[in-house]
Amino acid sequence: MRRPIIAGNWKMNGLARDAADLAASLRRLLDGYEGAEVVVCPPFTALALVRSAIDGSAIRLGAQDLHWEAKGAFTGEISPTMLKEAGCTFVVIGHSERRHILGETNDMVNRKLKAALAHALTPIVCVGELLEERTMKVTREVVEKQMQKAFDGVSAQDATQAVVAYEPVWAIGTGLTATPAQAQEIHHFIRNLLARQYGEATANTVRVLYGGSVKPDNIKGLMAEKDVDGALVGGASLQAGDFNKIVRYKESA
Ligand code: PEP
Repeated sequence: MRRPIIAGNWKMNGLARDAADLAASLRRLLDGYEGAEVVVCPPFTALALVRSAIDGSAIRLGAQDLHWEAKGAFTGEISPTMLKEAGCTFVVIGHSERRHILGETNDMVNRKLKAALAHALTPIVCVGELLEERTMKVTREVVEKQMQKAFDGVSAQDATQAVVAYEPVWAIGTGLTATPAQAQEIHHFIRNLLARQYGEATANTVRVLYGGSVKPDNIKGLMAEKDVDGALVGGASLQAGDFNKIVRYKESA
């Protein structure tokens, strides 16, 4: 049984105080709930206050990115050891906004994935196709290439620690969601890619999250699919009430 993960990606939203308030609200709403592993990924500047707000709760702290080197002349970057010091146990890698707005390559994603694993940070590796790629029916090719490059040189033992997020880029922040069947098709494909590289046992332990306009009213349908093991949530994770409903999808009618 793979334990579901619901992760909130707060992106570049909220000053530290706002983020801490949001985290404190979530803590209250989710107190005692164990049906899913919950992760919040605030901006770097809010990590310290959010850490204090969730300290002692089951909510885990994640970062939205990292650099692969431990230290050095990399102006503006944050290292894995810095994230560990800040209390992070998760880190998002290769989010489509980093790939498509900031020019992050598959090679960089691979380095970041290896660095996260080497420092015992649980990576959430994002893959997913653009709208034009889906229209051209090359979704599988795009996702296969992203997965192959991301996991190049990663051992089976390390791969079991990784989380993958399938995030069709056309569904992120647009209000368009993949149907449960569309999500399941690609999640199953991703698990098969992992099985080909690492064998069935490893593939069956890796959690594959869905991301792209997840809301309280569509999470249940997505989670009903066999290979959907949770969600990476952007916009709706900024509202404590909505995020709480998404985390508690099992309780909804
Ligand atoms: C995301 O940021 O990964 C995301 C899926 O955003 P949204 O839920 O807003 O589409």
